[in-house]
Parts: sequence; structure tokens; C-alpha cells
Amino acid sequence: MQVPVKFHPMALPMMGSALATSVAALLTWRRLKTPGAWALLLLFLAGGLWASCYGAMLMTRSMAGQILWLKLVFLGALAVPPLSLVVVLYFTGHGQLVNRRTLSLLSLWPLVSFFLLLTNHLHGLFFSSFGWVTGGAYDYLTFVRGPWFWATFVYSFALFAAMAFLLLNGILEAPIIFRNRNIFITAALFLPWLLNLVVVLGLSGPEPLDLTPIGIGLASLIYTWALLSYSLLDLNTVARRELTEHMKDALLVLDWQGNIADVNLAALELANLPAGKVVGHPLAEVFGFLVPGASALGSWDLEEETGNSPEKVLELSATLGGQEHWFEVRRFPLLDRRKLLVGAGIIVRNITERRAAQEAARQYARQLEHLQALLREQTIRDPLTGAFNRRYLVETLGREMANAHRHKYGLGLLMIDIDHFKQVNDTHGHLAGDQVLRALTALLQKGTRAGDAVCRFGGEEFVVLMPQISLANALKRAEVLRATVQDSSEVVSGVALAFTVSIGVAHTEAPGVTADEILAAADSALFQAKAKGRNRVVGP
Ligand code: GH3
Ligand code: MG
Ligand code: MG
Repeated sequence: MQVPVKFHPMALPMMGSALATSVAALLTWRRLKTPGAWALLLLFLAGGLWASCYGAMLMTRSMAGQILWLKLVFLGALAVPPLSLVVVLYFTGHGQLVNRRTLSLLSLWPLVSFFLLLTNHLHGLFFSSFGWVTGGAYDYLTFVRGPWFWATFVYSFALFAAMAFLLLNGILEAPIIFRNRNIFITAALFLPWLLNLVVVLGLSGPEPLDLTPIGIGLASLIYTWALLSYSLLDLNTVARRELTEHMKDALLVLDWQGNIADVNLAALELANLPAGKVVGHPLAEVFGFLVPGASALGSWDLEEETGNSPEKVLELSATLGGQEHWFEVRRFPLLDRRKLLVGAGIIVRNITERRAAQEAARQYARQLEHLQALLREQTIRDPLTGAFNRRYLVETLGREMANAHRHKYGLGLLMIDIDHFKQVNDTHGHLAGDQVLRALTALLQKGTRAGDAVCRFGGEEFVVLMPQISLANALKRAEVLRATVQDSSEVVSGVALAFTVSIGVAHTEAPGVTADEILAAADSALFQAKAKGRNRVVGP
């Protein structure tokens, strides 16, 4: 006669699985901020409950004890399918579907089932009957599954089919660089289900040994590995894909050979080609304008890039669809966890509008500058003659006199008045008078130095401001101007019109230091010139 072993041989692996789910649950708990992580945590807890209760059941040696543990097993087992669905919804980017309504709908079946299980002895809907097999290496429990068990089984596999659909879709839609990892994660989710199918369909032998918790334990190990190597955030590839697909910038991933490994929607639009003609093709073939030659781009050779090479940014133009576009191209190396170069990322931003706006702003600023200069000219110029106006003279005179005083140089001031100008107006008309005023201005401007200022003081009276000049020289220059005016004539309507000027000269060498005083001095000198018979220069 054989001596029964103390425990069922699968009891310890079951407890190991429970331990694995606990580790995975702990790691998930530390990342609870990630959307959907709470569902994953609950899933691991439910899986752990399933495995540990099943392990405890296998350690129990009485039939009644095992039946009690079996019922507790279902506390975890019934929660696993709906929780898996919630996790998959988050994992495939459908997290918005998880709300209070869906959650209460999903919890309905497990609650009813667990109630039926607890009251099974009254109706036998879950398990029709139990049996106890003795005489082998160990005793074990058998049971005949009732109608509600099978309904639950069908319900769970309906959920499983929905998950399979979502996951396969997720794999197909995920960026290529994430695809392998997604396949791994999906496999981890499928594994327990496959084992469950084997057991429930009776393929594992006469003993109804449930291997699903072992599958859950293995899945937890795979998950833990993925979590530690890729971090949980990266699991959320679909959300990330949604982000990149909604970007206006074109995103390109190049593999280490310089072929395009992945693109977003904006990049396909930029290429104006279907994905099949973009992914897997060399960058130069699809986006020729991005690689017009090493000179324009600097080195785009992947081989030359090292782990520390910083991102490169450049602006380039290209004619697309008959229109010139400007692009800002940003390129950076893609490194794996060991800092080895595995490819490159490229972000292409269309900056045509930005550049146009910048150019418009520059032009606007130039115009504004021009207008400002024009406006300033207008405020200091006399519109008829173009000479500085009286306002300018008043502004300048004070400053010039202070300068002259500080730097100890002379400042001359000539007050010039046209002789008998009223007669010009009366004889030849006002317009002829205007023409003479302009002609005199031209003569004065021509006959003075660059630093001198010719101002129209009012009517037919002009002031010439002469910094850095001696009184003797100021008188000399006044005389030259007078003579020049006398010798010139202005042709008006075919008639040569001669005119003369009287000039009063004032100077800082003479007494009087304020602007008003020097102006008054020049005015009185001019008055004397007029009194002495006009067409002459009178000094202080
Ligand atoms: P005097 O030799 O004493 O200076 O005699 P005058 O005729 O030049 O002096 P008066 O002050 O009597 O006359 C100045 C004239 O200048 C009067 C006015 O009609 C004329 N005048 C003032 N401003 C302008 C102007 O902008 N255009 C024209 N055409 N004439 C002007
Ligand atoms: Mg006059
Ligand atoms: Mg006058």
C-alpha cells in the first residue's frame, strides 16, 4: 500500500505563483499614477487570491475542507476575467470606456455567480455533485460542473474573445518599435487562458487540476520583467501613438541602416505616399528634400553619430506641389538601454508660415522705422523750403550754445532777410515769391558747411547757425552769402528775377549768452543793415 504524500505535488508551485503575483502587484502598486494601473493591481491581487486559495485547497486533506477552499478560489477566479478586460481596455487605449457604468455591469456576473456558489448546496447550479478520489499517491476532489458553471465559462470566453480582438488590433496599430514588446505582453495575458481551457475541457486527465494559477504566476513573471526593463509608461504605447498621430509635426524613426522604421500620420501626409511605400524604405528615397546632400544637412550619416551626439537642428526649404515650403528639421539619435545607437528620430516641422510672419514683421519694422524718420523730419522741417523750421532752431540753439560754452569755441548766428520781398509778391505773384524762398534756401544750404543749420525763421527771414566759427569768419561767410545771392537770379515764367538780402550777424564772442540774447543781437544787426540801405552785412 502506498503512503499518501502530505501535500499535493502542485501545492508548492501554486504558492510560488501566488508569490509571483504578489511581486507584480507590489511593483504595480508603486506605479499607481499610471492610468489603469489600479485595475492591473486588482487583477494581480485576484490572481494571487486564486493561486493561494488553490494552493491551500491542495494542502487540505479533507473533502469538506477542499470544497470550502474551492469556493474561495472562485472569489479570485470570478474577478479575473472582467478585471483583465478593464486592463486590456486601458492597455489598448480605450481607457475612456472604463466608467462607473461599465464597472457595475462587469461586476454583476461575478457577484451573482459567487452568490450561487455560496448557495450551491441548495440548488447545485454551479457544481451538480462532488466526489473524493482516494487510493492514489494523494486524495483529490472531483466535481460535476453545473449549468451556471458552463454559462460562466462561456461568458468568460466571450470576454476573452473581446480582449483578443482589442490586443491584436493594438499590436497591428502600434509603432513597429513597440510591436515585439506588445506581442510579449499579449502572450502573457493569453497564457493563463490557454491553460484554463485545457483544464475545463478535461484535456489534462481525470483529475480536474486547475493549472490557470500557474499560468497567472508565469504571466506575472513576464509582466515583472517587462515592467523592470521597459517601465510601465511604455506599455501605454497606444496612448503614445494617439499623441504622435495627432501631431502636426512629421515624426520619423530611422533604423540603424537609415531606413524608415516608423512614421506618424503627418509624415505620411508630407510624403504623400501610402505607409507601405514609406516604412522600410531609405530616407533619401521617400523624403529626398530632407537629404539634398551633405553640404546642406551636415552629416546625417548614422554611423558617424555617437551616443553623446546632441540633436541637430536645421532649417531648409523645399518645393512641394509647386510651392516653396520651409522646414525645421530636428534629428536626434535613438539609444537603447545600454546607450547603443539603434536608430535616429527625426521631427519635421513646417515653418513656412512662421517664416512668412517673421519676414512680414521685419518688413513692418523697416517701414515703421522709415515712417518714424519721416515724421521726425516733418516736425523739424519747413514744408515750403525744406529748411529746418523755427521749432528746430529753438531746440538746437540752446544746445549748441551750451556746447560752444563747454568746449570754448565760437558760435555764429546769421539773420537773413530778403530785401523788398513784398514787391516780388506784388509784382510776380505769391507763387513766384515762394519760388524765390526756395531758391534762397538752396543758395544758403549750398553756401554753408555740413555742421551749419539753415532755418526758416518766419516769412522771408532765415537764420543760419554756424558752430565752431570765429566772429571774423562768420562775417566773412555772411558777406560771401550776400554776394552770392546778389549775383544769382531766379527765372520765373521766363523772366530772370534778381533779389538781394540783408544780413545781421551775432556771435558768442560778443556779450550775451542766452539763446534769446543772441537772436535779439542778430535781429538788431539786421535792422541796422536794413536801415543802412539793405543788401549788406552788419556785425555786432
Ligand atoms: P524789407 O526789405 O524791409 O524786408 O521789405 P520787405 O518787403 O521784404 O518786408 P515786409 O516785412 O514788409 O514784407 C515781407 C513779405 O513777405 C510780406 C509777405 O507777404 C511775404 N511773405 C511772407 N511769407 C511768405 C511766403 O511764405 N511766401 C510768399 N510768397 N511771401 C511771403
Ligand atoms: Mg524783407
Ligand atoms: Mg521781413
